[in-house]
Amino acid sequence: MSELAVELSNVFKTFSASNARDVNAVRNVNLAIRAGEFFTLLGPSGCGKTTTLRLIAGFEQPTRGEVRIQGKPMNGVPPYRRPVNTVFQNYALFPHLSVQENVGFGLAIKRVSKEEKKKRVQAALDLVELPQAADRKPSQLSGGQQQRVALARALVNQPAVLLLDEPLGALDLKLRKNMQLELKHMQELLKLTFIYVTHDQEEALTMSDRIAVMSAGNVLQIGAPIEIYEKPATRFVADFIGETNFLNGRVVEMGTAMTGVEVTGKRINLPRQNEFPTNSVNVTLTVRPEKVGISRPESFADEAKRISFSGVIREAVYIGTDTRYLVGLSNAETLVARLQSSPGHRPGEYAIDDPVIVWFEPGDIRLLTE
Ligand code: ADP
Ligand code: MG
Repeated sequence: MSELAVELSNVFKTFSASNARDVNAVRNVNLAIRAGEFFTLLGPSGCGKTTTLRLIAGFEQPTRGEVRIQGKPMNGVPPYRRPVNTVFQNYALFPHLSVQENVGFGLAIKRVSKEEKKKRVQAALDLVELPQAADRKPSQLSGGQQQRVALARALVNQPAVLLLDEPLGALDLKLRKNMQLELKHMQELLKLTFIYVTHDQEEALTMSDRIAVMSAGNVLQIGAPIEIYEKPATRFVADFIGETNFLNGRVVEMGTAMTGVEVTGKRINLPRQNEFPTNSVNVTLTVRPEKVGISRPESFADEAKRISFSGVIREAVYIGTDTRYLVGLSNAETLVARLQSSPGHRPGEYAIDDPVIVWFEPGDIRLLTE
């Protein structure tokens, strides 16, 4: 078993205001973040990500529950006594100080010797690949460089855990993508624990060892990127991470290895996933657009294991690498299929009003009961 860096046990945070309603920003959150892990809190704006991070940093105290860092309870431990450092989205650099003064600022407070300080500041600037910028002022740097300085300032204290609150949010897309990979490499190199906050699902999938998906103060699912994307536990998770299809269904049989479901008037068999209490339970079936195939009725090979429905092309949108088709099914439900442009599928292959067969593998469908 690997060592735990940060644990949250039944943590609640309620903000009370005398003239307003209480806000339950964090509700019964349980996390066990491993040492050396790149762990991401992912969710829409206002779901409690920053509050969770501030509870770990010590800027907020839990209303209920406990935060432990490296096994030690943090009740009453002030932020500066915790082995963590935070990098914020808005850099928060001192404009009148040089880069090296900004980076060394925390060390000055900690009374580190002059030589030691110089060495550590230079090492931190080397690490973020800004060795030449020591004497410049923040205003003489680009947004990306300022973010690197903010990172160096956090790393110079050699924290066990680095907390990053949407640190790339202010950067343009291309720079952000580069910085994502750089941050990930740096985290692996230093073997630090990163707790990273973002509302960008692609960023979370790219960087994380594990992701906790949050909504309205709750953690809905924790898992590796592939689990979160391929096996969403709830409708919210499926919907928030990437694009997906939902179909209404009814469980009509529970076998030992399969679940029989009625969907768009057709009976299909899926590999058994969840336990459903009784027959005839209403369920939602979800399948990713890239897992949906389209064929012409005359050329569709009705292989026993595929699930297929007849449909009609309602919309075809060419988006370069893919074409996104909207297919109308017999019961007025629709499915989105994303077909990659390839030798087997030329853009424009299917046109509006073409009758088609949509199909998928049973294992690519998830059943959700929400
Ligand atoms: P996120 O970082 O996911 O966008 P936050 O943790 O900042 O979400 O906020 C969660 C909820 O708590 C929001 O409804 C927000 O308005 C509320 N909130 C955060 N901080 C405070 C505070 N100091 N006082 C009152 N409400 C707050
Ligand atoms: Mg936030």
